[in-house]
Amino acid sequence: MKPSFHVRQLNGPFEDPGLYIRLIREGRALMFDLGLTTSLNARDILKISDIFVSHAHMDHFMGFDNILRISLRREKPLRLYGPEGFIDRIQGKLNSYTWNLIEEYPLELHVIEVNGAYLKKAVFSASNSFRCVHYGSEPFNGMLLEESFYAISSVELDHRISCLAFSLEEDFHINIDKAGLAKKNLPVGPWLSELKKAVRENRTDSLITIDGEPYHYAELRDVAAISRGQKITYVVDAVGSTRNMEKIINLARGSDVLYIETYFLDEDKDRARDRYHLTAREAGIIAREAGVGRLEAMHFSPKYIMKSERLIQEAEGEFKN
Ligand SMILES: [Zn+2]
Ligand SMILES: [Zn+2]
Repeated sequence: MKPSFHVRQLNGPFEDPGLYIRLIREGRALMFDLGLTTSLNARDILKISDIFVSHAHMDHFMGFDNILRISLRREKPLRLYGPEGFIDRIQGKLNSYTWNLIEEYPLELHVIEVNGAYLKKAVFSASNSFRCVHYGSEPFNGMLLEESFYAISSVELDHRISCLAFSLEEDFHINIDKAGLAKKNLPVGPWLSELKKAVRENRTDSLITIDGEPYHYAELRDVAAISRGQKITYVVDAVGSTRNMEKIINLARGSDVLYIETYFLDEDKDRARDRYHLTAREAGIIAREAGVGRLEAMHFSPKYIMKSERLIQEAEGEFKN
C-alpha cells in the first residue's frame, strides 16, 4: 500500500520543532508546530492548508511570521489551530505590523482555539486589516478536523499551561479485488461505493443492488480488501504526570510513528518536573504502552548537546523493554 502521508521533521532535535506533512494524493500539506520554519521554501509554504500549534511558547510559534509573509497573497483561507488563548496570540502577532495597503489581498486566517470543552473560532482578513472577527464556538469532542480520508484529533496536556498533542489518522483503505469481481461475474459500477461505505460502517445487514438484483453484504464482502491507514502522533512539552501519560497513550495508541519530546534524561527527573517536560524514559514508556510502530525522539534540552545519543538510548531502551 502506497503511503498517503509523507512526514518531514524540519529541524534537528536541538532546534525548534516543526513537522511538515505532505498529503501526497492532494498536493497539499499540514504542519504540526511552527518552531523554526526557515527551511521551507515558498512552494512548500503555499501547500499548507492547516497548521496545528501545540502551544505559544516561542520555540513552537516563532515561525509564524515566515509563513504569514509568504501567504499574504494566498487565495484560499489558511486554518490555524491552537490551545487556550491562541486567538489572542495570533492577534498579538498580527498587531505587531502595520497593515495599510493590503485591502486587495485575499488572505483569510481561520483560527480555531481549543478552550476546554469548546472550540472558539475567529477570522482575520487582510481586507479588514486583520481585525479579529469572532464567529462563535462549538462543543469539542476531541476531533479538530475531519476530512474525506483522514482526521486529526487532539488532547490538552498539562505543561503548566495547556499544550495540545495531535494525532493524524488515515481512514481505512478499501481496495476492490478486480479478479474476485470477474470470478463472481459482477460488473464494476456504483454499487462498489455502496459496498465500501457498508464495510467502513460495518453494516453487515446491508442489501446492495447490482443491475436491479439485490445481494446480501455477505455475498460481496470478500471482493473488498481492507487495510488500516497510516497514523502519526505528535507530542511535545508535557509533564510526565499519570494523567498526561494516560492521555498521551490513548491518543497515540497503534500509531505507526510517535514523534515525542525527550527533553530530559531520567537522572534529571526533578528538573523535568519543574519545567513541565517529559523525560526520555517516560517517552519510551508511552511508546511501549501505546503499541506504536516507531518512536521518533525529538525536542532535546540544549544541556545534552554533547550526549544526545543518551536521550535516544534511554527512550529506545524503555520502548523495546
Ligand atoms: Zn513549552
Ligand atoms: Zn518546547
